[in-house]
Amino acid sequence: MKDTIVIGGGPAGLQAALTLGRMRRDVLLVDSGDYRNASVEHAHNFITNDGLAPSEIREQARKEVAAYPTVEQRSARVQSVAREGDGFVAYVDGETVHARTVILATGMRDTLPDVPGLADVWGVEAGQCPFCHGYEIADRTIAVHGVAAHTAMFVTLLRNLSDELVVLPDGDQIDDDTQKTFDDVGVRVVPGTIRSVDRAEGGVRIAAGDQEVLAAGLFVTPTFEQSAPFAEQLGLDMLPSGAIEIDVQGNTSVPGVYAAGDLAHVAELPMPRPSLLGAAAAGLVAGSTAVHDLLGG
Ligand SMILES: Cc1cc2nc3c(=O)[nH]c(=O)nc-3n(C[C@H](O)[C@H](O)[C@H](O)COP(=O)(O)OP(=O)(O)OC[C@H]3O[C@@H](n4cnc5c(N)ncnc54)[C@H](O)[C@@H]3O)c2cc1C
Repeated sequence: MKDTIVIGGGPAGLQAALTLGRMRRDVLLVDSGDYRNASVEHAHNFITNDGLAPSEIREQARKEVAAYPTVEQRSARVQSVAREGDGFVAYVDGETVHARTVILATGMRDTLPDVPGLADVWGVEAGQCPFCHGYEIADRTIAVHGVAAHTAMFVTLLRNLSDELVVLPDGDQIDDDTQKTFDDVGVRVVPGTIRSVDRAEGGVRIAAGDQEVLAAGLFVTPTFEQSAPFAEQLGLDMLPSGAIEIDVQGNTSVPGVYAAGDLAHVAELPMPRPSLLGAAAAGLVAGSTAVHDLLGG
């Protein structure tokens, strides 16, 4: 019987395991190696790690966690988690693991807009977070895909980084409010469906309608969903964003199950705020809540 099974070895799960390991809790950390940011070469906005590759950050984190002998790290996939008696049972690549508590840190899975070539530049020339990848392309042409509320928010944020903002509605109609934001911010709208996105010298070449745009970077708004079925299996309360509802201590609606990182947020926020540092901080909170609760049993 483990004290805690931590599912997911991104920054949230790794930090949760570190927090538990430092309090000598018996932990199994399981990670399947499907990283949301797998294609990213340089991650930003993470103090002490600004500009490092996510893979380097994970490798360093795994080394640090390995110094704690009560934490076992396993490269495997968890298939299911269920309540059993006072604890939980998980199936890990077919093997049964019993644990008193569970920390879910399996993140979210993105679905990119259906734009030809986008997947090939995703994480390098194309991204979804101006805070993460805007500064590096400041003062150059920056393209933004779509016309949703997010697009208006993106161009407003990016205005401080570049005077050359191009919006690509990709065939969608622009509503009056969004058009007003575009006018106020001062963007160039290139109409027409996007035919292709290709890596080019200094950025991306985007063919939209009968025009071509050469941009240093492209921002898009993917849709996202839980990357694992455990919230559903455990019957956790969910939020309209598709994330697991947690309180400020990382508790889910099921006692003994905590959640940390992109897959969960408090009800006061409209959606998760994905970031490496935020995920790690949430892992620390969930880990320390689990440590406290384990004292009671
Ligand atoms: C293109 C892109 C660029 C980004 N750039 C930045 C940036 O520059 N700076 C920044 O701060 N943030 C950035 N982010 C956001 C950042 O990557 C996430 O916020 C962060 O990775 C979330 O951490 P997490 O631990 O919650 O989830 P993840 O990092 O997604 O980790 C989840 C883990 O769960 C594991 N897992 C899933 N299912 C199972 C299962 N069934 N069994 C076992 N393991 C499982 C996966 O293998 C994965 O390792 C970027 C995101 C994207 C998509």
